[in-house]
Amino acid sequence: MSEDERQSIERFRAEVIEPFAAIRTDLVRMGAASFVAEVTDRATPERDPQPAVYRTLRQALEMIAGGDAELAAMWFAAQVLVLAGYAPVVDRCVVCGRAVGRSATFSFALGGSLCAADRPRDPEAVPASAVALAAISFLREASPKALARVSFERPQRAEVESLLRRYVEYRLEVRLRSPLVIEQLGRLR
Ligand SMILES: [Zn+2]
Repeated sequence: MSEDERQSIERFRAEVIEPFAAIRTDLVRMGAASFVAEVTDRATPERDPQPAVYRTLRQALEMIAGGDAELAAMWFAAQVLVLAGYAPVVDRCVVCGRAVGRSATFSFALGGSLCAADRPRDPEAVPASAVALAAISFLREASPKALARVSFERPQRAEVESLLRRYVEYRLEVRLRSPLVIEQLGRLR
């Protein structure tokens, strides 16, 4: 990025984005809401209503309206994966069951983290930090109440969001449109 471009982005931020912080917050909420709506739509076949998914959706929407909207969307993705029988294995290697250590990867096909030795089992596995895996483990188990008490740092948020979104896409066999909105809004902060 050139210096001119960088300055024009800075100016855009200062003159256009900052004065509309409330709208930006609303846009993040709208992005999160459209994400959970889209995931729900894909996760619930028409003739097969799933009360647990809708109950979770309701809880997520309450948090999106009044709490940390992005975190609520990530929590919802983790919960839907669990409800659909695809709970991500993130506290050990999904192949050998040993601790994964620092240089772990996450396999969408195998549904969990891989230790260094088992990494070749899935050439498509992506790097996953220990912090992100721990965050996903938390989101998988957390109640809405517990969720309201935590905060995720921005780089960690981006990694967790990306891992969960891609795993949802892999399992539900869709390319989700809404999460991109959240990512783009995130870059404007
Ligand atoms: Zn292993």
